[in-house]
Order: sequence, then structure tokens, then C-alpha cells
Amino acid sequence: MTAKVVIRAVDTFDYIVVGAGTAGCVLANRLTGSGRHRVLLLEAGGEDRNIWIHIPLGYGKLFTDARVNWLYDSEPEPELNNRRLIQPRGKVLGGSSSINGLLYIRGQPEDFDHWRQLGNSGWSFDDVLPYFRRAENQERGEDALHGVGGPLAVSNVSEPHPLCDAFIEAALQAGFPRNDDFNGPTQEGAGYFQLTARNGRRWSTAVGYLRPARRRPNLKVAANALTTRILFSGRRAVGVEYRQGDATHVAHASGEVILAAGAFNSPQVLQLSGIGPGRLLQSFGIDVIADMPGIGADLQDHLQVRFIYRCSERCTINDMMSSVRGRVAAGLRYLLLRKGFLTVGAGYAGGFFRTDPAAATPDVQVHFILFSADSVGKQLHSYPGFIASVCQLRPESRGTVSIKSPDPRQPPAIQPRYLTAPADREVVVKGMRLLRRIMTRPALERYVAAEQAPGPQRTSDADLLAFARETGATVFHPTSTCRMGSDLTAVVDERLRVHGMEGLRVIDGSIMPTVVSGNTNAAIVMIAEKGADMILQDAAAGTPASAAA
Ligand SMILES: Cc1cc2nc3c(=O)[nH]c(=O)nc-3n(C[C@H](O)[C@H](O)[C@H](O)COP(=O)(O)OP(=O)(O)OC[C@H]3O[C@@H](n4cnc5c(N)ncnc54)[C@H](O)[C@@H]3O)c2cc1C
Repeated sequence: MTAKVVIRAVDTFDYIVVGAGTAGCVLANRLTGSGRHRVLLLEAGGEDRNIWIHIPLGYGKLFTDARVNWLYDSEPEPELNNRRLIQPRGKVLGGSSSINGLLYIRGQPEDFDHWRQLGNSGWSFDDVLPYFRRAENQERGEDALHGVGGPLAVSNVSEPHPLCDAFIEAALQAGFPRNDDFNGPTQEGAGYFQLTARNGRRWSTAVGYLRPARRRPNLKVAANALTTRILFSGRRAVGVEYRQGDATHVAHASGEVILAAGAFNSPQVLQLSGIGPGRLLQSFGIDVIADMPGIGADLQDHLQVRFIYRCSERCTINDMMSSVRGRVAAGLRYLLLRKGFLTVGAGYAGGFFRTDPAAATPDVQVHFILFSADSVGKQLHSYPGFIASVCQLRPESRGTVSIKSPDPRQPPAIQPRYLTAPADREVVVKGMRLLRRIMTRPALERYVAAEQAPGPQRTSDADLLAFARETGATVFHPTSTCRMGSDLTAVVDERLRVHGMEGLRVIDGSIMPTVVSGNTNAAIVMIAEKGADMILQDAAAGTPASAAA
């Protein structure tokens, strides 16, 4: 396709933020707060007007909606029977925080202490906790670990559910503790999740951070604006080129360009701009500004294996959705009371467990989900059904993101290489055994009519691994493709500045040195809160935004 190239008037900003996702919306808010800096926020997707974004259960409808989702697929996965896996990503204001499952999980304090131990000063749990607290508006109130009054609403599920109560009881019967706060002093145990929601409405970063900031005259938001490349003068980022409709625009940055396009698109934009693995770029005729093999390397993600259960009672979301009466009742309950199934996104309850009692912290997470379908985004089963999934929290497998074309409209090649590390295969199988241990406790007997999949006949380690290979899927937590660190393949330093470049940072999920042990949205909000502080501190101190090569 040849787009008509019309270069519109060039405008200059202090900061240009590429991507209005989880991180980009936080940055837009914090960088414009003082009124001193002019900021341009560029987003490839549109406004977040789709009603299903804002009703938590609508999450299920957004998996296949090209109006709000990039709808990526992975390359054939060698350890998963060469299947291509769907890789949804938000393409709308709020980014993936507008289409995600709403679960509010920060990860383990040890994750951040590990980042620090890898050499990233300023990123230990004690260092990052103030940013988690500053972001948070915790419904339960303030304490040493939680904050109130921040832009990100965090709430309890609207009401308990008997099937979730039974799951939690079953975990207790299997010897695990109850946990009412997975972001509290310890992550281990079973309990209800908290959600980034308030009064039954999703609290994306577009809602919490961007909306209030849009009134500020020093913020310009350009939606449906695809950033095609970063512009450089030598090694200094001086602006971006972006496309809106048929027109190509140029915007200049007198301060910095900040990439917040997410774990797939931040490395893609860098590669398209001439920063990345030299040979890859040359193969597409792209002039190499900096040969950096780490850009797009080290992709990490959580692979989940879903057990499907037929339920003995008609108390699941499948049952509500299968009749007009059920849907109307749920709709009324939502509208009048802000309660019920429509207020819940992905998991309702779940837990964090150690497959090996000798392990220091939990190594698997269970999501307990009150509906069932053959795979994510597919039609719900007509029978009463629910899912319990297990994912390994600290995978050793590493994948890649690399451009497949010099055309910015073409998706990059996403190759997570799930289960390529033997340790990952081992933990996944142990996790499946652990899940079965919980699901076969007496507390759940009343509800479990049958384990539909994998099915009781599949019992050996080989059977379980084969099931993981046949059905394993992403739980949507890709990270680390522009990894923070000081080693040869690290992409950004501990102030999130791209090594060897000037005026260029990456601030989003792609900078995580290792994926956190849990869902990723809350940690990315924290990263953006901290990143914004570092930018403002550097501006106040007159420090050049450049990192040592
Ligand atoms: C279906 C799903 C369910 C999930 N469930 C949960 C959950 O329950 N809890 C949880 O904590 N996490 C969950 N996650 C993960 C979490 O939402 C993401 O890790 C997080 O939102 C990523 O934030 P980010 O800022 O790195 O990227 P994103 O939020 O994806 O933002 C990137 C933004 O950049 C834009 N962009 C990309 N390329 C360009 C370009 N060239 N030009 C302009 N704009 C561009 C994108 O359109 C997007 O808006 C889920 C994710 C998905 C997809």
C-alpha cells in the first residue's frame, strides 16, 4: 500500500511520548502536571469509547475486536506443537490497560530486589514501593504497603461467589494458606483478586491518568497516529515521524522522545528507526544508527495451562450468558447495584503457590475463572463450566521480537519460545499437579461434575506436558524486550535511557529485567511513575538525557 505522503507543519514539544497505553498515559499526566513542559502523546489506536472497554466482563469481547486490539499472533512455537498463539495488545487510549483482565497484582518484593541485585540501583522493593503507593487509590484504605488518593482505583470484587469460596477452601484443605491481599506482606495463598476498577467500571490508565490531564493546555493527544520512526541528529533523538490517515507528520522534541509502545512495539519502532540488531536492520535496507542486539531480545511471558471443569450447578457465567433471562438479570443487577458477573474481568479468585516447599517464594499462579470456553476469546460452552489455570511465574525461556518488514504497518515477528527451557517444562508440570491437588479436595466435590480437560485419564508427567504443548497459551504478560541493565545486551540504563543514545528513553513493560511474578499492569504503572520522576529530576538538574554506551 502506498500512503500519500504529505508532511504537515512541524511542531516542537519538550517531550514526545509514543504510545498511550498503561505507561504512556501515566507519563502524559505526570510530565504535564507542573504546566512547565509541552508534551505530545501519540497513540496508534483511537478514543476509548467502546462500551465494552468500561464494563469489566466486556473484556471477553475485546480479544477479537480489531478496533481496539492489534490482534497479533506469535510465530509457530517450536515447543507447543508449532502452534501460533494469539497475542492480543490494546490499540486504543489506555492500551492494554483498556482491554486487560483488570487484576491488580504487583509481583513479589523479591522480584524488585532481584532487579536491584542485577545492578539496577534504585529498583529494589523499598525503592519502588513509594511509586506503587503514589499510584494507588486503594478501596480498603491506606497502610504501609497501600496508598489512597492516587489515580489508579483498586477495589475488591463486588461480592463473594460460592464457587470461589469453595476453591479457596479447597486450597486450604490442600495445605495452603488463605490470603486476602496478594499485594500484602506475603503473596502466598488463595483468595479473591482485587481489580483496577471502581463502582463496577474499569479503571484503565486512560481513565485514571489521561482523562484529568487532557484539560491541560500543555498536553496534545494525537489518536489514530502511528509513529513510523524516531528522527535522529547523530545519536540524539530529535523528534518522530507519524502517520495519521494519509498524512505524514513530523514533530520535534527539544527534550526527549520516550517510547511507551509496549513490549512488542517499542522494539519494533526502535528497529524501524535504525537501532537494533545490525544485520537484521541491514537485511531490510534500514540504515544502522546503533547496532544493539538486545533490542527485541529477551522476550519473556507467562504461559498458562487451562483446566476446564463441567460444573454440577448452574452458577457460572456460561449459565448467565446462555439465556436471555440470565443476561437481562445480570444487566439489571449491574445497572442497579453495580454487582454480579459483569463487574468481573479475568479471574475472580486465585492464588500463588510453591510447587516445591523448599522454594523461597511462590513459583506458580492460579487463576480461577467462572466461565469456560475451548480457548481464550472463543464461544462459551453451553454447559455450566469454569476454568482453573496455572502459570509458571519466573520462566527461563527467552524469545524475540523482530521486524519482518521495513513497513511500520506490518506486525513484527513475535517468537516467545515458550517451554524451551527445561526448567519451565518441569515447573509447568508440577504446577498442573498442584492444581489438581487443590481441585480434587472435598470443598469442590459439590461443584466439579467432571474435569473436561485435560481429563482424568491424563495422569503421567508426559501426559501433562503433552497437554501443555497442545493447549498452553499466553496469559498476556510479554516483557523485557528492551531490558534494563548494564551488561552488553541491556537496552536501557537504570534511568531508562537507551544506552549510547541521547534524548531517548523507553518506559513500559519492555524494560523489565525479568518479568514480575504476577500480572504486569501494576508494575508497569509503577515503572512509568518512577520514569516520569526521573525525567523531571533530570530536567530540573539540567542533566543530559543520555546513558553511557
Ligand atoms: C487480554 C489481556 C489481559 C491482561 N490481563 C491483565 C490483568 O488482568 N492484570 C494485569 O496486571 N495485566 C494484565 N495484562 C497485561 C497488562 O495489561 C500489560 O502488561 C500492560 O498493559 C502493558 O503496558 P505497556 O504500557 O507496556 O503497553 P500497552 O499498554 O500495550 O501500551 C502500548 C501502547 O502503544 C501504542 N502503540 C504501539 N505502537 C505504536 C506506534 N507505532 N505508534 C503509536 N502508538 C503505538 C499501542 O496502541 C498501545 O496503546 C493483560 C493484557 C492483555 C492484552
